[in-house]
Amino acid sequence: MPHTVTEPTRVKAPFDVMRLRQDFPILAREVHGKPLIYLDNAATSQTPQSVIDVFSDYYSRYNANIHRGLHTLADEATAAFEGTRHRVKEFLNAEDARQVIFTRGTTEAINLVVQSWGRQHLASGDEVLISMLEHHSNIVPWQLLAAEIGFTIKVIPVEANGALDMAAYRALLSERTQLVAVNHVSNAFGTINPVQEMAALAHQYGALILIDGAQAAPHQVVDVQAIDADFYAFSGHKVYGPTGVGVLYGKQALLEAMPPWQGGGEMIQSVSFDAGTTFAAIPHKFEAGTPAIAEVIALGKALEWVESVGITAIGAWEGRLLDHATQAVSCIDGLRILGTAPQKAGVLSFVVDGAHSQDIGLLIDQLGVAIRTGHHCAQPLLAHFGVDATCRASFAAYNTLEEVDHFIEALNRVIGMVR
Ligand code: PLP
Repeated sequence: MPHTVTEPTRVKAPFDVMRLRQDFPILAREVHGKPLIYLDNAATSQTPQSVIDVFSDYYSRYNANIHRGLHTLADEATAAFEGTRHRVKEFLNAEDARQVIFTRGTTEAINLVVQSWGRQHLASGDEVLISMLEHHSNIVPWQLLAAEIGFTIKVIPVEANGALDMAAYRALLSERTQLVAVNHVSNAFGTINPVQEMAALAHQYGALILIDGAQAAPHQVVDVQAIDADFYAFSGHKVYGPTGVGVLYGKQALLEAMPPWQGGGEMIQSVSFDAGTTFAAIPHKFEAGTPAIAEVIALGKALEWVESVGITAIGAWEGRLLDHATQAVSCIDGLRILGTAPQKAGVLSFVVDGAHSQDIGLLIDQLGVAIRTGHHCAQPLLAHFGVDATCRASFAAYNTLEEVDHFIEALNRVIGMVR
């Protein structure tokens, strides 16, 4: 029997997990002779057939470089590419499609802000606030620039349950704060951060907020205007799309005032040896060189798939999977969940007494279950909690309650083997 959950706000078809699984050919495969149970969705999500088809369709029918082309193929490719920009605008509720800049992913989107806005605005004595929950991609780019310029990075601490310490955040904000860079949802613990409230507080001090939405965009409605985000980033491959493409949203006035960070074709208005170079308007100013055309078009298809299912329904379903898994693992002797904040997305991170996370990951793979083990690119967070690795199961729209049960059964077997 399919499990059904009805989307409360935008009612589409009832949420039928068994039906939507059929959109994902990879879910039919076996691993080590066992049906694949894919619970590594926070690292990358699987891709529906409609997204996979974009690649053969694009390369067999209208492969051409975009913009400036005067032939039919170039027109078709440009229209499909720019169509995704409009879809992303709707997806994020941006004011204007020109505020959507295509990047290689969240990492590149953050680096763009660091290298363009950061270089232009930050000076010695300034402060950038990041949080203890950050992925390395929202730590290291700031450290690289700070080493050159000499501004200070301050870290918002977390409480014992993995929620951000909002009192400490308030106390850290000051006239010196130029920018707050936080994730919307933590990839390591699943904590959902109160980004709207954080944005309002940052703005009271005249600071900007950059939100890393890599783990939020696949699971919940993102409304950049309601949040009042200055910058918002996400990756295609975590939202049922391909690798190699992501998005940076920025407020229009900010993007217009920022200098380009990479030079080359596509991003110029005119180039002259004598008079120098003038730059294209946004978004092209930030899109130097030939972009990942097929990937961008495929991202549009992925968002179409998400829209057809309903992001609210997806989030509600994953919440059910998380609750079910959390209850079940809580009965396992010696297992400790890291990250028990009241507001969580579908991420379950845990360690087990007497069992190394890596051993659990390797052995459970033999039973067909894919989870992630390691530091999840969040070494400072894990070090704060006194561990160097956790096991992490993370859920997507196509996971089932039966899969969670199989995962728990497999986990119990593996723990029995390693202890
Ligand atoms: N931020 C968060 C919260 C993430 O989970 C990830 C990837 O795991 C990233 C940033 C980096 O994303 P990408 O590797 O797609 O650039």
